[in-house]
This record gives sequence, C-alpha cells and structure tokens, in this order.
Amino acid sequence: MYACNEDGCVEVSKAFGAGGKIFPGFPKRMALFDAKGAVATLGWMTFTIIAHVVLPGTMKEGVMLPDGTRLVYKLNGFRVFVATCVVGVTGMKAGWIDLAAVHDNLLSMLSTMVIFSYALSAYLYLSSFGKDKMLAKGGNSGNFIYDFFIGRELNPRLMAGTFDLKVFCELTPGLIGWLLLDLGFAAKQYAVTGSVSAAMMMVCAFQGAYVIDALWNEPAILTTMDITTDGFGFMLAFGDLVWVPFTYSLQCRYILEHSVRLSNAHIVGILLVQCLGYVIFRGSNSQKNLFRTDPTDKRVAHLKTLQTARGTKLIISGWWGVCRHINYLGDWIMAWAWCLPCGFSHVVPYFYVIYFGILLVHRDARDGEACAEKYGDDWKRYCAVVRYRLIPFVY
Ligand code: NDP
Repeated sequence: MYACNEDGCVEVSKAFGAGGKIFPGFPKRMALFDAKGAVATLGWMTFTIIAHVVLPGTMKEGVMLPDGTRLVYKLNGFRVFVATCVVGVTGMKAGWIDLAAVHDNLLSMLSTMVIFSYALSAYLYLSSFGKDKMLAKGGNSGNFIYDFFIGRELNPRLMAGTFDLKVFCELTPGLIGWLLLDLGFAAKQYAVTGSVSAAMMMVCAFQGAYVIDALWNEPAILTTMDITTDGFGFMLAFGDLVWVPFTYSLQCRYILEHSVRLSNAHIVGILLVQCLGYVIFRGSNSQKNLFRTDPTDKRVAHLKTLQTARGTKLIISGWWGVCRHINYLGDWIMAWAWCLPCGFSHVVPYFYVIYFGILLVHRDARDGEACAEKYGDDWKRYCAVVRYRLIPFVY
C-alpha cells in the first residue's frame, strides 16, 4: 500500500543498496501523515460509531457461547450505509465533502488508520484481563505477542454490553470505508479526465454490490468463524479497519493512476465472470443460511442431508454437494472479475486475487479442522461423500 504509487513501485535493490533510502518512491504530493488525513479518518470512525448507536437496528441472537448463553446483537450496518449516502450526497452538494480528495490524502488516512488499529488492539488486549471476561479458545496462550495478535477476548463490548466491538468493526467502518475509497478514486478520475472509465465503473459496481450484499445480509455474520470462534485482537482489528478498505480498493486506485482501456469483448468477458461468481457465491451462502435457519423451507427441504450425532444435518446435494466450500469458489471467481478490468500490464492489481486465493485455502483448512473436531466421525463420512474442498475434480 505504501510501497507502490503512480510513479511505480519501490525497488528492493534501491531500498537496501548502498546509500539507498528505506522507502523511496512516495509521490511527493502525498503526505505520509497530516492533519487533513487524520481528521478525515477519525471523523469517519466517529460518524460510524454515532450512527451505529443512534440509528435503530434489528436485535438478533448469536450462536450459543461455551457457557451456554447467547448474546444479543444490534445490527444496523445497512442503515449506517444509507445514512452515509444521505450525509455524503448532502455534504457534496453543500461543498463540505470532496470525495475526490481521498486520493491526495490516501497515505495520511492509511497511516492514521494503522495507528488507530494499534491503539484499539492495545485497548482490547489490556481490557481482556478484566473480571469475568470470556476468552477465545485459541487466544489465551500466555505469549504476549501471539495473544495480542490473535485476540484474547471473544466478544468485547462497550456501553454496558450493548456495543459489540467485533461485529461493528467487521461490517461497518471498514466495509463502507472500502466503498468510499473506491468512489473517491472514481470521483478523482472524473475530476481529472471529465469522465469515469468503463474499467473504473465495473470495479466500483462489482465491489459496491459485494459490500451492499454483505450489509443487507448482516445477520449471516453471526455464524462466521470470526464471530463465533476468534478473539478480537490485532489480526481482526487491523484486518477490518486497514487491510480490507485500503488493499481491497487497490484496483480502483490502479485504474485511476494508470488509465486502462478495455475492448468490448474484454468488458463482456469480465461481466460474465462476475455473474458466474455471484450466482455461485450468493446461491451457496443463501442455501446454507436458509437451511441452518429453517430446514423445512421449501427452497431447501428437498436437499439430501447427512444426519450427525451432534444433532445438526450437513447438506450433501445442491451447491454443498459440489464441494465443501463452493461459496469460497464463487467469491474467488468474483475476485478475478475485480482484477481483470486493470488489464495485463502489471501484477500489482492482481494482488487481491492471489492473496484471497491463499486466504481461502487456509480458511478452508481451518474450518475443516474445526468441523472435524465438532462432528468427529460424521465429518469423515461427509468428506467421503463430498470429496473436493474448493474446486470440483481439482482440489
Ligand atoms: P462458511 O459460510 O462456509 O461456514 C462454514 C460453516 O458452515 C461450517 O463451520 C459448518 O458450521 C457449516 N457447514 C459446512 N458445510 C456444511 C454443509 N454441507 N451443510 C451445512 N452446513 C455446513 O464459512 P465462512 O464464514 O468462512 O464464509 C462465509 C462467506 O464469507 C464465504 O462466501 C466467504 O467467501 C466469505 N468471506 C469473505 C472474506 C473476504 O475477505 N472477502 C473473508 C472470509 C470469508 P455448522 O455445521 O456448525 O453450521
């Protein structure tokens, strides 16, 4: 993020060679840290916190905790998104918000968010030693560095237990912030060239749909590993607030800094890739969510299942009969559609698809281990029926 810009990328030989600077190559007009970027970033965090507290939300119960209780979560990410749109459009019309300024202030905003995520992680680590805190299974090794990174407390909360820090950070400031960065790069392209390119429009539309989809289906977050199993520490705080918005918006930044032209055939091909990925991603995630919520619903009642000794059933037909994480495959295919609009001149905009592929393979392995522990021999039976992990007949 820091090391590449419109002038090129840091050259390792220059960085470490005799007389070389450690981080050469920052654009001269982008400050690494200044008041403008800090105010914009902290202002954004303050806005989302206030909006989350003030706006009404749906109250949903989470999964059963190790002590047999369930927490209730206030979910209003989609409403915060709508409020952001209203305030954003009003502010732009009135002239006190300039979305195109995002690009000039990017490094300063990034530095501020990095500092913020370290401060939040320090708070999370220290507060996890308080009385009656429920700790995550894997976050209490006693090794300071490991526990700080992985997260000790399972569900840190503020305001007498009504403000869940992990669920808030997972969905609201980082995800909506990612879309704002994308739109900021598009606004800058419009300000400079007088138009928004097809490549920029496609990436903004695809990623915008992904963010809105996640916010619309917000309750689904409550059954993800991040919420049910992982503690809240540096890994998730940094991931949610810095990694997701600033690296996932890399393609729009690249398209802004390197004008990319696409042929009609290229555009149609990318649209098809996106549609294929979305159908698999949404179809499989919705099928499982629906099955886990109401297995008698007629849209899932016909599916073949495997009864487990634990009491729940595992789907072995439909999307979930194709491979064990068909939803990850759909997500990864969409990742290609977000990178292909950048053309083929540089590998940097393909960072997302490479990194995300590695993340999903690792996540599949982690989930496989967790399921093997949960389901025991039933999981072995399930794996014998649904043989492939991520890609049918390949892996
Ligand atoms: P899943 O939604 O795949 O959830 C895994 C759980 O589903 C398992 O632990 C098991 O829990 C249940 N399950 C597994 N197989 C079956 C089956 N055959 N029938 C019924 N239930 C089954 O995992 P994630 O939470 O990791 O991912 C959710 C989505 O989020 C994915 O589409 C993923 O691509 C996306 N994602 C995106 C990221 C990003 O950075 N863009 C990062 C991480 C995820 P149980 O049996 O206890 O119900």
